[in-house]
Amino acid sequence: MSEFKVDLSNCDREPIHIPGQIQSHGFLVVLDQDSNVSHCSDNIYDLLQQDYTTLLGSPLQYVELLLGNDCPPGFITNLLSLERINKSFEQINPVKMEVLDKLYYLIISTAADNYLLEFEPVLSDALSDVQKMMGHSISKMLADKNFQSLLDNTALQVKNTIHYDRVMIYRFAEDGHGEVVAEAKNDDLGSWFGLHYPASDIPKQARELYKKNLTRIIADVHTKPSKILTLAYNGQQPLDLTCSQLRAVSPIHIQYLKNMGVASSFSISLLVKNELWGLIACHNYTPSFIDYRSRESSKLLGQILSSALEFRQEEIHQHTQEVFKNNLDKVTKQLQETTAIEDALTKYPVNLLDITHASGAILVYEKNIIKLGITPDNIQLTGLMDWLRESNTRPIYHVKSLSAVYPEAIDYSDIASGMMVAVISRELEEYVIFFKPEQVQTITWAGNPEKPVEIDPNGLMQISPRNSFQEWSQTVKATSVGWSIEEISSVLRLKEEVTYAINQKAGAIRLLNEKLQQAYDELDTFSYTISHDLKNPIAAIKSYAQLLAISQVFSDRDQKLLDRIVNRADQMKLMIDAVLDYSRIGRSEFEYKRIDTRELIQEIVKDLDLVYDTRNLTITIGETPELDGEPMMMTQIFSNLIGNAVKYSGHLENANVHIEGTVSDTHICYTVKDNGIGIAPKDLINVFGLFNRMDNVKDIEGSGVGLAIVKRIVEKHKGRIWAESELNEGSVFFVSFNR
Ligand code: ADP
Repeated sequence: MSEFKVDLSNCDREPIHIPGQIQSHGFLVVLDQDSNVSHCSDNIYDLLQQDYTTLLGSPLQYVELLLGNDCPPGFITNLLSLERINKSFEQINPVKMEVLDKLYYLIISTAADNYLLEFEPVLSDALSDVQKMMGHSISKMLADKNFQSLLDNTALQVKNTIHYDRVMIYRFAEDGHGEVVAEAKNDDLGSWFGLHYPASDIPKQARELYKKNLTRIIADVHTKPSKILTLAYNGQQPLDLTCSQLRAVSPIHIQYLKNMGVASSFSISLLVKNELWGLIACHNYTPSFIDYRSRESSKLLGQILSSALEFRQEEIHQHTQEVFKNNLDKVTKQLQETTAIEDALTKYPVNLLDITHASGAILVYEKNIIKLGITPDNIQLTGLMDWLRESNTRPIYHVKSLSAVYPEAIDYSDIASGMMVAVISRELEEYVIFFKPEQVQTITWAGNPEKPVEIDPNGLMQISPRNSFQEWSQTVKATSVGWSIEEISSVLRLKEEVTYAINQKAGAIRLLNEKLQQAYDELDTFSYTISHDLKNPIAAIKSYAQLLAISQVFSDRDQKLLDRIVNRADQMKLMIDAVLDYSRIGRSEFEYKRIDTRELIQEIVKDLDLVYDTRNLTITIGETPELDGEPMMMTQIFSNLIGNAVKYSGHLENANVHIEGTVSDTHICYTVKDNGIGIAPKDLINVFGLFNRMDNVKDIEGSGVGLAIVKRIVEKHKGRIWAESELNEGSVFFVSFNR
């Protein structure tokens, strides 16, 4: 196997599970599928008094023979078949045997198709003491319910079991760096409690191995490892030592330990929910081997601590989850029972602020921002919203250092270093946003974490093990407490509930619209019928009044009254006709035709002087793009608009009316512009109402019906009508149709 060179680019890939050598305090014999020796460590002579050349390729029986009386023929073969039944060596390991007057533990494990037989020395004071001590240790460990005491006690009990100079409990943070959270040490050593170690101190692949193999001993950093030898034809495949006890240590790690002055190191993995929570890391400053039994006892302590941690974590997790869930249930109920979504989320005693540990929250909904708790101000929020729009974040997005991704946020890092966004609608720019304040933290690193790279004597950059462990303080600013899994799930559920509520409300509005349309249609029919039925009695009133006037002679006064009756009856007929026209539009079905707008306008203009005073009037017609619509109705639109323009300007000096159409990608828009008496801007919304006339047109005849009819026709054609005007300046009426 070619040697792997560690440098800046590949440190995380150093194949530490296949180092090609073992630590030399033990011996390794590897069997292939046929139970022949495929590999052995180059120190094997010390165990078996046989040179590796005679051993490699020989059958297991030969090894058994060499191992002597404690290993009768077929003994190891039987152990291997037991593994096939149990599917593990856990119950078999270790087997104690005496080889050439020395006691060894035989520990068997697998590596792909091979069996690893590892022989390690047994230390004399092993078994009985350890077992007694374990019971004692476990009860001491669990004596105190307090979390820190649990950690402290565990460190102490492990120290009592293995007698190392320093035992630390090391906890990994989310970013992979570690912190010493408990420590038991000799009095003469300085404390490392509370120190932080950069993530690069334990590379990724080492962490993976810690998950697979729960204990790891480095017996003596100063001894030379033993090479693993093999027959030439086996040489291609490196031997996987993931499950091995004796696996040699990466030279980088050896140097790291030497730099710390450590001679022996032992670690026990702490797994919580199958993830590496931390390590019990043990250091001895003189070489000190711990035999397999003692390592297993310590492993047990580690496992007990792991379960206690898992239990505790689960307890905290469940409690927080419960609190958030209850609050969210309340908010959901409010969403179902309250018409306004914003009220449901913000106006009740239990609101958005109660579903996470955020200290501030905002709801951005229907162009409003509603703030709860401590939040940035409106200007800051507007900037943040612009950034959110541009950065197109994921539907649930959270950071604990907002200013790292959005630098402007540094101005308000005291209130919003942490941010979690739930996008309700990206198109409408509607969000729920949660904020957490800055939590200034001082981290004391064991050495400057930013300098794991050093220049080697050849001037090349190298990942070299740190050699400075001098305390180095760092203040972490503009960072909040992170967002927990419970908070994220809570916000996720909130987003779902809000979306559901919005959809339901949209459904309700659609239903309401349909009802409204129905009522509208009924009203149309009603007004049509009423107006239609009124026509006859009115005509009769008029006729009778006229008959009366002819058949009798009245005084002047009475004659005037009779004239008024006739006059009012005429007026009423006009109004009824108008209402009939108006409601007819709503009721009629029609066919679209292509309209020659130019011709239509010219016809209208031609007849104007029959009705209005057009002596001072100039009418100009610009572009006249064709329109699609019902021809009679289209004529009504233009004759009303042009008629009004002339009516309300024609009597003035230099009256000008201009008509033109413009075409855009999506619309055709016509404008009718005059320089007449104009409309007060505040009245502009009223001109389209039925029978509405403005104050400045008292002297000009009209019914207040034309624009109402025009508006209805335009809307019937799916178009839009609006006006711009100033009093005494003139007016522009716009009608726009989809293309
Ligand atoms: P009318 O028969 O009174 O003209 P309309 O419905 O056509 O009824 O118009 C409603 C009101 O809008 C008018 O009475 C007038 O006050 C105002 N109006 C409409 N067009 C113009 C215009 N070009 N210039 C000024 N006022 C106008």
